Amino acid sequence: RGNAVRLAVETLRPDWPLLAFTCLALVATIAFTLAFPLAIGEVFDVVRSQGGLADAPAAAVANPFSGLGAASSVPGSFRTALAKLSACLVLSASGNALVSYCSTLLGERFAHRLKGQLMETIIARPQAFFDSTPKGDLVARLTLDVQVLQATLADFIGQRGFRSMFEVTGALALIAVQQPLLALVSLAITPLLSRLLRSVVVRSSAIIYRRQQVAAEALQYASERLSQVQTVQVFAAEGREAGAFEALDSSGYRMARRYAFFQGIVEGAGRLAVNVGTMALLGFGGLLVIQGRISVGALLAVNVFNLFISIGLSSVAASLGELGKAVGALERVAELVVPGSSSSSSAAPGEAEAAGTSDSGAAAAPHAGGSSSAAASDAAAAGAAPAASASGRVEFEDVWFKYPGTSDWVVHGLNLTLLPGQTLALVGPSGGGKSTIAALLLGLYQPQRGRILVDGQPLPPAADGSSAAVGVGMAAVLQQPMLMAGTVAQQISYGKPGASEEEVLAAARAAHADEFVQQLPQGYGTEVGERGHALSGGQKQRLSIARALLLQSKILVLDEVTSALDVTSERCISDTLRSLTSTKLIIAHRLSTVRRADVIAVVEGGRVAETGSRAELLQLEGGMYRRLVHTADMAWVASGAGS
Ligand code: ADP
Repeated sequence: RGNAVRLAVETLRPDWPLLAFTCLALVATIAFTLAFPLAIGEVFDVVRSQGGLADAPAAAVANPFSGLGAASSVPGSFRTALAKLSACLVLSASGNALVSYCSTLLGERFAHRLKGQLMETIIARPQAFFDSTPKGDLVARLTLDVQVLQATLADFIGQRGFRSMFEVTGALALIAVQQPLLALVSLAITPLLSRLLRSVVVRSSAIIYRRQQVAAEALQYASERLSQVQTVQVFAAEGREAGAFEALDSSGYRMARRYAFFQGIVEGAGRLAVNVGTMALLGFGGLLVIQGRISVGALLAVNVFNLFISIGLSSVAASLGELGKAVGALERVAELVVPGSSSSSSAAPGEAEAAGTSDSGAAAAPHAGGSSSAAASDAAAAGAAPAASASGRVEFEDVWFKYPGTSDWVVHGLNLTLLPGQTLALVGPSGGGKSTIAALLLGLYQPQRGRILVDGQPLPPAADGSSAAVGVGMAAVLQQPMLMAGTVAQQISYGKPGASEEEVLAAARAAHADEFVQQLPQGYGTEVGERGHALSGGQKQRLSIARALLLQSKILVLDEVTSALDVTSERCISDTLRSLTSTKLIIAHRLSTVRRADVIAVVEGGRVAETGSRAELLQLEGGMYRRLVHTADMAWVASGAGS
């Protein structure tokens, strides 16, 4: 909870001038509002002192408007009292408008800043975090929870919380100054109420924390099923899915109902207490007037104050309920933003583990460059000189890896060296660990043991989650290319947003995407992605290849990038890739792609079962590659075309 409070304070801090101004305006507005009953009281007393409030003459009753035109007959003291009353009205109304504007603005600015901060921290989290955290939950915290916070902040500062507390206190103080005895009557009900209020805050924050969690689950469920709607419909599961969603949502509803019930009780009890107070006040105060100890105006003022108190207290009660709700939401947000407060993600231990080993990897770096036998062949790697010469050397040194939160090693002591410009093809049965090896090279995960060197330098540790693959000179085409909303040109220049038109065009041509892009309604300006023009799997693949080629990086990681392409396109792209000087790590299913690689590594069960050139592997008696090619056991080679 400390973290949550700290986060709120930190987020609010840059707006302290606005906050201070709002509070000042609030205090002024409350002063004018509290002066209102006094002004009413004064009007009454003036009326009475001028002989009013006595029995009206019969003529006046018959025609209440007679004599109203004679302004000169209005006594000055009465005019003054009325002027004061209207000044209070005007000033408090303007003050209210200002406070309402400022507090709403404060809430919006708070939410805006918090969302920015949330997105910034979320998107830089390590892959392991995303493996263990449902996206819907993240989206819910970014939207639902922040919304609750924004609304509560505006409400608490401007509308109910602070204002009502000030008003109640001010009204009590004014009654006390005027009629200490009556203040005691008014005060008698507050201890009871404050106990009630405390329990509301505590209980409702707990309920709301859980409720928001359930809401997040429902959101996650809905967005996942909607994004897979084809599967749902093909398997005729619409009814089942809708039912499951309804069940999830109704558990949230049940919690909300509990919250509402709770709020209702508090509201009712609060009002009862307040009304009893009002009755006591009227009875006791009326007696004082009858005995001539206080004026009618004073009793009236005290009663209006008491009205303020009663309305104020129930506002405070409701507002504190909202505050409890906000605390629950704030806790959920703080878990993501404030490091170390995470209780939701099981990734935390894994992250710590990974960070620890990458630290040791970094520490070992200075010695390893010189002593490693692999580095001996490449003098540039040993020296501190920047890798300006032949670059793109990749080494896996006894790399061990398991996914955070799991217990089995997925990569077992991997040793592989790729010389600059070489193409390494990883082949092997599905689930063997090929994609994992690519992800490790890209720095998406940190190996628990061993290290990965690029041009003799260990991959920079992904301290704040960013893999720094681009920084090291790597580009990747990942499996299942997903496009983000935007134009074709934006898709291609995603890795280099300022890329020129020529660069985009060159990359598209190299990826053999130009032809189909030219056919699109607006060419490179066509919107694609979720809400844009639908593209085929192969077209998406070509765009994502162009996106990687545009970076002209020294290392390319390609994960089954040609799986959705026809044989001709595939061959064209293979030719392009061959013409590049980059070092390439290719995960391939087609023997046609594999065949052209300089080195082939057969990966099975997280180990390199055999490695060598195609010719070497074909020579290996009893070798797996040879067996696979000869028996045409292509279970893992999607199409043998071209081999
Ligand atoms: P391949 O690319 O050869 O098909 P992968 O590298 O995708 O193999 O998977 C290797 C193993 O790692 C599989 O057993 C798979 O279940 C597991 N695995 C893959 N991704 C994850 C993940 N994000 N979390 C946990 N286990 C994973």
